Amino acid sequence: MSIFKHNNSAKSPEDHSAKAEMVLDSIHDGVIITDKSGLINFINPAAVRMTECGSASKATGLDYNTIIKIETKEGRELPDNENQLIQAMRTSQPLDGYQVCVISAQSGKRIPVAISVLPVQGSGQNHIITLRDITKELAEEGEQTEFISTASHEMRTPVATIDGYIALALNPSTATIDTRARTYLTAARAASQHLGKLFRDLLDVTKLDDGKIRPHFVPVDMMDLVRGISGDYAPRAKDAKITFEFGTSSPDASPGRRMNQVVYGYVDTNFMREILDNLIENALKYTPEGGAIYVNVRGDGDRVLINVTDTGIGISAEDLGHIFQKFYRADNSDTRTIGGNGLGLYLVKQRAEAMGGKVWAESSFGEGSTFYVSLPRISEDEYNKRMIAVRGQQMRQAQAAQYRQAQLQQFAQAKIRQLQQAAAASPSQPPAAPAPQSSMQQATQPRAPAAHTYLTSQNNNNPKGVQQ
Ligand code: ADP
Repeated sequence: MSIFKHNNSAKSPEDHSAKAEMVLDSIHDGVIITDKSGLINFINPAAVRMTECGSASKATGLDYNTIIKIETKEGRELPDNENQLIQAMRTSQPLDGYQVCVISAQSGKRIPVAISVLPVQGSGQNHIITLRDITKELAEEGEQTEFISTASHEMRTPVATIDGYIALALNPSTATIDTRARTYLTAARAASQHLGKLFRDLLDVTKLDDGKIRPHFVPVDMMDLVRGISGDYAPRAKDAKITFEFGTSSPDASPGRRMNQVVYGYVDTNFMREILDNLIENALKYTPEGGAIYVNVRGDGDRVLINVTDTGIGISAEDLGHIFQKFYRADNSDTRTIGGNGLGLYLVKQRAEAMGGKVWAESSFGEGSTFYVSLPRISEDEYNKRMIAVRGQQMRQAQAAQYRQAQLQQFAQAKIRQLQQAAAASPSQPPAAPAPQSSMQQATQPRAPAAHTYLTSQNNNNPKGVQQ
């Protein structure tokens, strides 16, 4: 029986179904349709090609999971709690453009794809999974990233120089200027600083895209980490007359509801700082005096959920779907007067996804916003195990450093002995670079004087000592 429904009464069901199958057979995107338990009902030729599962008839009836093998674009395996495809299928939530690599079963080829999952309403919970090959898109993006990264890098230095000279011109102790010139230069300084921040942010964004940085995962007590980072913002919030609380999830959560849960994660702490810096900076930027900001962390099953909630200007429903895109800024009378470049939330999304996380926002225009970051959670047992591994690694690194130091010392001592021997052999000559000596020569040479004797005698007639 065909799985395609029809509603065009003018055409026969067979006619409609045949056309749909024809389209699915000819498109480049892989399409897989599963039943509610994830068993494959239909798979088109593109999906058969990408997964190398043999044929449609072989794949039909199998669990989708046995043929769609994925890993991150960076080549990292994805445990179930980080695998957004599995999560979407389990919870029947739509998934849109999840970028990973599909590993072909026979050749082991890695194909970069954007995976989408669409739960089909009223169909006994069928799911439509699409796999869009994004090899070309990524190559083009790579070229763009390379260009932006080089351009930002090259432009950062002249902009810093311009900024430095304007600062000198504005400084009364280094320059005398009239009031009008001061006004112009103050405006020029604001623009040069904006440009400088733009280049810095662009470089940060491109560093991950072009693989210059990779997340460095460590086991972390998430409560401590988020508390520590957000604590840095308390003084700024106080200055801006904004209430700032850690441990409450919403404006109406009483202090009694503060969270004492112990929640562990496996994250890159620098990425976490960048994420929280951007979210809290935004909350401060878009919340007027008298408002409030609440930062909270909690365990939610196998995820860690962080939220940054504010009672600020809010985001319209129209803008909400776009704010995580590169350079997107909501355009309204409030945001027009508040500076920004539209890169912060893109960076937040990028960093969170690199750690197997997700970000999203909820907001009511004029009332406030909540930004959520969900990350894989690890159990206390796993945390302890990973901590032992980290400490072991730190110990090995410290031992290796000690060993290198000892070797360096031995080498330096041997060098000093050689120099002393050379000096003793010809006391009036400044030492030349020590030549390799045969064991015979060494045996006939006089004993070297103590190191301090050599240096003192050299210093008498050679103020530059052994550097000569
Ligand atoms: P920007 O530098 O413009 O702040 P972001 O990428 O950080 O760039 O944010 C994108 C847009 O999302 C902002 O221009 C703003 O319109 C909106 N936005 C972000 N955070 C908030 C917030 N806490 N409250 C209201 N609007 C926000």
